[in-house]
Amino acid sequence: MKLHFDVALCVRAKSKFSTCTKCMDAAKGIVELQENLPSFKAGTGIEAAACVGACPTEAFSLSDFSTTEFFFNFLDSKVRLISPKLNVPCISVLSVEHLISLALASEEPVVLDLASYEEGSSVLEIIRQRIEEANFILSAFSDKRLETNSDEETSIASNDQESAPSRREFLSNASLKGALKHKKAFDEAVEEGELQVFEIADDVIAKIKDKHLPNKRKILFTTLKHAGVPDTFEVLPEEEVSFTSQKFVDEGCTNCQICYRICPTGALSTDKKFSLIHFDAMLCVKCHLCHDVCEPDAIHLQPGYEIKEFFEPTQRTLAAFEIKRCHECGNPFTYTGGEQVCPRCMLEEEEAMILHENAKKRREGREE
Ligand code: SF4
Ligand code: SF4
Ligand code: SF4
Repeated sequence: MKLHFDVALCVRAKSKFSTCTKCMDAAKGIVELQENLPSFKAGTGIEAAACVGACPTEAFSLSDFSTTEFFFNFLDSKVRLISPKLNVPCISVLSVEHLISLALASEEPVVLDLASYEEGSSVLEIIRQRIEEANFILSAFSDKRLETNSDEETSIASNDQESAPSRREFLSNASLKGALKHKKAFDEAVEEGELQVFEIADDVIAKIKDKHLPNKRKILFTTLKHAGVPDTFEVLPEEEVSFTSQKFVDEGCTNCQICYRICPTGALSTDKKFSLIHFDAMLCVKCHLCHDVCEPDAIHLQPGYEIKEFFEPTQRTLAAFEIKRCHECGNPFTYTGGEQVCPRCMLEEEEAMILHENAKKRREGREE
């Protein structure tokens, strides 16, 4: 099982200003920055699984294991234990969104086998944090929770008479045939190698421009549609929700158009005249790119995340601009008052004035 990186999906490929380090933080010492892009040694596999679950845009994946397929196959099966001994290469491949969706979509409580991990290991810490976040968010609108087990419980679950046929059924599922193959591959030695350098080739550039909503977000969308709507909607602290956000734009915005052009998912958008900034919170993956590219630092995270957005997604208008045609060149531009001349023509006019003044001074000098 090998780690796969789709450079076109990485926000660092979209802009050199991106500060995203989620994959590197999750797989410390395995995924590193090389020429401003994540990099890892050829042959890296399961030991970097945590970066798969951490990447907001699903740029990382593991060969032969699809988190999306796992989600549906798990729900189809009767097994309610998620374990590296049974059905996942490592629990850390699952994102917080996956965990919330699994808990919501399952009628029986979902149990995560933490007993298979070494106490004190960084991967266990990451998995615990994700479970904690998922349960905290779930507590705002549902009584469902993810559960974890102890060593003893794991062995009971594995030997349980009831669960044995379910497990066979689970593993015999056609699309999970690969699971056993994966398990064998887990033990394969990892080839040592140099850090790979990923290039942004022409075909990658075309793909970079595409807006792409990760499958994990589509899964969450679908799951929430079937979940009961709470009577009241809570507002959670922004920092407690790692995978989506709500935003506002202040008066420093110059409508430079960069944030909504560069947003990888289409959460930020505009109209035909570029006269608005629209925002769909449920499409935002909190990659931070819009903040990183905003020169006047005009786009901000809202301090609270409104859970209402999960059940009644809205498109908010974060900013509206007056668009006028430039009296000089005829092109539309964001009008902020004063002369109806676009910034480019204004600049050209200023430069022409300076040249004219300099020429005048030279002429006057000669005449004296
Ligand atoms: S977008 Fe994904 S791959 Fe790119 S830097 Fe962020 S976490 Fe890493
Ligand atoms: S919020 Fe920032 S990046 Fe977006 S249009 Fe305004 S100035 Fe440009
Ligand atoms: S709105 Fe900003 S943080 Fe959200 S997905 Fe778009 S660029 Fe990333």
